[in-house]
Amino acid sequence: MAKTVSPGVLALRKVVDDVHADARKAHAEGRLVGWSSSKFPCELAAAFDLDVMYPENQAAGIAANRDGELMCKAAEDLGFDNDICGYARISLAYAAGKRASRKVNLETGEYVINPNSGKPLKDENGNVVIDPETGKPKKDPKTMVPYTVLDDIYEIEALPEGREKELRKAAIKPYRQMQIPQPDFVLCCNNICNCMTKWYENIARMRNIPLIMIDIPYNNTVEVADTNVAYVRAQFDAAIKQLEELTGKKFNEKKFEQACANANRTASAWLRVCDYLQYKPAPYSGFDLFNHMADIVTARAKVEAAEAFELLEKDLAEAVKTGATTTPFPEQYRVMFEGIPCWPKLPNLFKPLKANGVNVTAVVYAPAFGFVYDDLDGMARAYYKAPNSVCIEQGVDWREGICRDNKVDGVLVHYNRSCKPWSGYMAEMQRRFTDDLGVPCAGFDGDQADPRNFNEAQYETRVQGLVEAMEANKAKKEAEAK
Ligand code: SF4
Repeated sequence: MAKTVSPGVLALRKVVDDVHADARKAHAEGRLVGWSSSKFPCELAAAFDLDVMYPENQAAGIAANRDGELMCKAAEDLGFDNDICGYARISLAYAAGKRASRKVNLETGEYVINPNSGKPLKDENGNVVIDPETGKPKKDPKTMVPYTVLDDIYEIEALPEGREKELRKAAIKPYRQMQIPQPDFVLCCNNICNCMTKWYENIARMRNIPLIMIDIPYNNTVEVADTNVAYVRAQFDAAIKQLEELTGKKFNEKKFEQACANANRTASAWLRVCDYLQYKPAPYSGFDLFNHMADIVTARAKVEAAEAFELLEKDLAEAVKTGATTTPFPEQYRVMFEGIPCWPKLPNLFKPLKANGVNVTAVVYAPAFGFVYDDLDGMARAYYKAPNSVCIEQGVDWREGICRDNKVDGVLVHYNRSCKPWSGYMAEMQRRFTDDLGVPCAGFDGDQADPRNFNEAQYETRVQGLVEAMEANKAKKEAEAK
């Protein structure tokens, strides 16, 4: 049976589709398109009506579409180290012109189907059909897909006009993250991490385009000092000047204020959506929030995003009334999922959780993009607060607050090989969670974009261990309560 999609989710899909379509149109019409890090102040670009794309979301989408490994390897072949964040590798390969394409037979013009792809064929009773010759399940031809190969848009562009050029252009995978226009400028803010700085410098050098940089250093204190605010405010001014030079337009204060109002409205609605995970059982899960990361990052300063998140909020209020939930199993345990998910392995992440009744009712990554401010100083302060730019005390405080509010029984920590700044302090965080909250934690090794760094067997064992520890914890608490 087809899964029903709520009006809020449909509205959000449209918002992001429109942002991508607008950027492709702008590029086709010769207007500027920028690439931006996820926590660069999008309000500044909005004041100039610029079309902006977000490489982190793009890389997550490419990884979820199972092309992360191909693109990571392409970046490694260009000389980028395998230890660099997978998002950066995917983005750098893309900026160099590399694309995941469907293998095409240049004589017939047809795609070459990979015989190993596709889902098992089922008969009218829902049983898997076995091929009598091989003894293996037959593939459903409707779900089989062409081989994936690496192509290069600059090589394609250099071809003479004709059939090969047309076929290779058309063979580039059609999903939106593989169709993003090349950048005319880049906007970088290193509040996300310092890898971002080198990543964007490389894109700017590779494409010979301007880089507008806002430096937000790691903050050793929970409060953001006034001198830090002044440092960032001065950089907002410098970025505005650079954008004026780039676009040939004057900074439009009205549009800026409107973008700030929209961003605050979107962020507030997003935070309220995140709070729905506090219900027991939760109508929505952390995996649902992960799926909306692209929406909040890509369209935060757009009024349509605010409206769509408000609609999603209404859907969730209704779900709570009727007892509906997106989680397809009874919730026995509630956990916080720490870190970014392994996008290419989402079904593998989900399987053992489902088998053990473990619902992800808390995540750190999602609410980090819901920040609200009152004025320009507040805006500078808000941009200081990203998961990898705050001190450990602030990080522990955020997480423990979410764990308490969302009533978790345990914490599942993703030691993400790509994201070293995030994973580096997780061992100490785990210790603090257990000490302060009395909940067990389990860690597993993985990667948000490069599937070579995920081991399914290890993950399943760690989930099993966490479930056993949560079970023992629960039994102990029940015995103590008697
Ligand atoms: S924060 Fe982590 S995942 Fe994101 S770009 Fe930086 S290293 Fe990569």
